[in-house]
Amino acid sequence: MRETLLAIAHQFSQDQLSPGTTGNLSVRDEDGRSFWITPSGIPFASLSLDDLVRVDVESTRVIDGTRAPSTEVPLHSMTYQRRTDVHAIVHAHSLYATIFSTLNRPVKAVHYQLARVGDEVPLADYATYGSKELANQATNALGNGGAVLLKNHGLMTVAATLSEAYQYALDVEWVAKLYFMALQIGEPDVLTHDEMARVRRELDHYGQSSVTP
Ligand code: 13P
Ligand code: ZN
Repeated sequence: MRETLLAIAHQFSQDQLSPGTTGNLSVRDEDGRSFWITPSGIPFASLSLDDLVRVDVESTRVIDGTRAPSTEVPLHSMTYQRRTDVHAIVHAHSLYATIFSTLNRPVKAVHYQLARVGDEVPLADYATYGSKELANQATNALGNGGAVLLKNHGLMTVAATLSEAYQYALDVEWVAKLYFMALQIGEPDVLTHDEMARVRRELDHYGQSSVTP
């Protein structure tokens, strides 16, 4: 589990999804009551296993590791508390998703690539980074969805696995970029809820998933 967290943290750095040391990633431990999170303010490319920190979901206290955990521990712990189905969280200051957050505009389904994440990415009210208020606003706006924009701040995605949550972040960022570019020319059409539901059903057997070896 820590190895997966480390691998995705390195990928996160390589993909340049978030500038500098911004953004953070976590995975829920098998015990269900704690999670492993990236440390605060250390470049993702240089992270090793020893830099990861384990935090108790309920008390938000550090129970393993020597580094100071991400400042967004309140955001991660409140999400794990309120969403028992969530086992991994990605937070990024990805450029195009963040642009929409500053404009108070949700990222809409201008492309079916958003389907796994949801019908659109809603927006949480602004609160200072690292605050309980931000955690509260973000979890309220997230509801049962897979992603939320944090106003004038960035993006958070959640899923059952870290690779899924990471893919959601890439998908939201790609659709946000497409949406941004389309808006330079006009107002793009948005796919209907029915069509997005149909795409989700199709994606269930996309690729090689229906082939039995
Ligand atoms: P950390 O380096 O403390 O994780 O903070 C980055 C960030 O994105 C805060 O919102
Ligand atoms: Zn942030």
